[in-house]
Amino acid sequence: MISLNFTKTIQNRFFNKRYISQNKLRKYLLNNKDNKCVLCNNYFPYKILEAAHLKPRKILNKKENDDYNNVELMCRNCHKFYDLGLITVFNGTIIKSKELLNYDYNLTNKYIDNYNYKNALYYKYHFNEIFKKKIINI
Ligand SMILES: [Zn+2]
Repeated sequence: MISLNFTKTIQNRFFNKRYISQNKLRKYLLNNKDNKCVLCNNYFPYKILEAAHLKPRKILNKKENDDYNNVELMCRNCHKFYDLGLITVFNGTIIKSKELLNYDYNLTNKYIDNYNYKNALYYKYHFNEIFKKKIINI
């Protein structure tokens, strides 16, 4: 019983810390980004948009974790496609996986508006390690 409560306390601390961090991140995005998805370029209410890591959060080092250039606002669909490696960005250009050819996921824009030298390394990581290799299985 004591052990269970102890474990719960540790879990709560972990989740609270993570939650605060995500909250801070979301606040930054809402104050600094337009209310549109960086991939499909559609405008949505802020409450619909998600804070998305260009390079997955779970493999970031401390410096990368604190770098706001690694986050963008994405709609739920694009965020999921991106995290699964079904869509990526290469040199500022959006690339879709062949797996999506038979599905209704049409992107009208081809370029990321705010692609720059600060976020390029994170997109490059995603292209090489997730889109090409699909190392993450969700
Ligand atoms: Zn989108």
